[in-house]
Amino acid sequence: MTRHIPLPVEIEIPFPKPPKVLSESEQQFHKDKIKTLLQQHNAVLIAHYYTDPEIQALAEETGGFVGDSLEMAKFGANHSADTLIIAGVKFMGETAKILGPEKRVLMPTLEATCSLDLGCPIEPFSEFCDQHPDRTVVVYANTSAAVKAKADWVVTSSIAVEVIEHIQDLGQKIIWGPDKHLGGYIQEKTGADMLLWQGACIVHDEFKFQGLENAMALYPEAAILVHPESPKKVVELADVVGSTSQLIKAAQSLPQKQMIVATDKGIFYKMQQAAPDKELIIAPTAGEGATCKSCAHCPWMKMNALHSLSNVFDRTDNEILVENNLVKEALKPLTKMVNFVNQN
Ligand code: SF4
Repeated sequence: MTRHIPLPVEIEIPFPKPPKVLSESEQQFHKDKIKTLLQQHNAVLIAHYYTDPEIQALAEETGGFVGDSLEMAKFGANHSADTLIIAGVKFMGETAKILGPEKRVLMPTLEATCSLDLGCPIEPFSEFCDQHPDRTVVVYANTSAAVKAKADWVVTSSIAVEVIEHIQDLGQKIIWGPDKHLGGYIQEKTGADMLLWQGACIVHDEFKFQGLENAMALYPEAAILVHPESPKKVVELADVVGSTSQLIKAAQSLPQKQMIVATDKGIFYKMQQAAPDKELIIAPTAGEGATCKSCAHCPWMKMNALHSLSNVFDRTDNEILVENNLVKEALKPLTKMVNFVNQN
C-alpha cells in the first residue's frame, strides 16, 4: 500500500512499504552470500549511519565503510574496488558516482529515495532560482544530481553554517534548498539573507517539542542531541545541534551518561560503538497511535535490506547512471565543498 504525505510545496511523497522480515537463518544466508559476492566482484560495501545495524555491521566486517553521505562518496572514490555497493538512498549513490565516475555504483534498490530529494524536483527549483538571478544557490547534499548541477554550492549539515558565513562575507544573497528547518537554523545562526525552499525530512519533522520536554523531565541529567533537520522548537531545546558525525562525537565527549537523541535511530549503532558507556534514548516522535513515519527510522533507508543486498549483482535495474553533462556540472559545487572542507 502506498500512502501520501503532503509537503508544504504541495509535492506528494509516496511512502514505501517496509521490507519483509527475515528469519535468523535467512539473515545468515544472505550475509554469507554478500560476503562471497563482494570478493568475487572486487566490490566494497559502503553504508550510511541511518541503515539498519546489520547492514552497518556487514560493511565494517567486510572492510567497507559507514559514514555520512560525503564521507561515503570520498571513501568510495579513493577505494581500489571496481564496484561500490551503496547502502543508503539514491542521492548518495549519485554523489558517489559523481565523485568516482569510473566506478560502477550499485544500490540494493533505486527506489530508496529521500523526502528532501523528492520534495525538490529540478523543474520548479530551477524556475525558483531563475526568478532570483542575483542570488547564490546553495543546496544541501540531499538533492538529485540535476539540482546539484544547478547549484553554486553543495553543503552537508556539518559545514553548512561555515559555508553560508563565507558566502555572506562575500556580500552575496542566498537561495537555500531544500530543507526548511536546516535553512531556518542556518539563517538564524548567521543572519544571512536567505530565501528558503520549503522541503522537509519526514523523519526529523516528526520530533516533537512537547514530547522532548517530557523526556527531559524524565531524564533530567541527559544531554540533548539534535540534528538540525528537526523543527525549530526541538532544536532550541538542544545542548548540541549537529550533523550525524558531530552528534556521534558529542555523545563520546560530553560528560553526561544519558543522551536523548533527535535523529534517525540507525545512528545508535555507531554512536553506541563510540560511546559504549552511555545510555542512548531516542527523542519522542508523534507518539502512540502514530503511523510508521513516526518511528524515527527512515523508510527509504530501511529498504536496504539484506535480501536486496544479496541480489545486487543479479539485476539490471539498480545501477546508478548519471549523464556526463550532469556529472560535469554537479562536480563543480561538490568540488567547491570538498576544497572548502580541506581548507577550513
Ligand atoms: S532520514 Fe530524512 S533526510 Fe535522511 S534520507 Fe531519510 S528522508 Fe532523507
